[in-house]
Amino acid sequence: MSTTDRGTYQMLWDCPYCGSEKLLGLDHRHCPTCGAPQDPARRYFPSEADKIAVVDHRFSGADRVCPSCQTPNAATCEFCGNCGTPLSEAAEDRCRGLSE
Ligand SMILES: [Zn+2]
Ligand SMILES: [Zn+2]
Repeated sequence: MSTTDRGTYQMLWDCPYCGSEKLLGLDHRHCPTCGAPQDPARRYFPSEADKIAVVDHRFSGADRVCPSCQTPNAATCEFCGNCGTPLSEAAEDRCRGLSE
């Protein structure tokens, strides 16, 4: 059991491809919006205010389970934050469009 309430925040990163900001360094190894892999060079420490946002992150939750790796993702995620698999048909279509 940990008693360090303040040690639970994660580093953040911004997606260079779609402009999503403040993604979680640990939970979102891929961008939940466009599926791009995380660039470790873009990670940064959150400000005091952002630490609170991290606890109640818009892309955190367990509403959608990834069919590939079984990681729970928030309903707002288009792509699995762990492996980048598209979680919605719209996301899948977008992937196909990009690869053409
Ligand atoms: Zn993105
Ligand atoms: Zn996954």
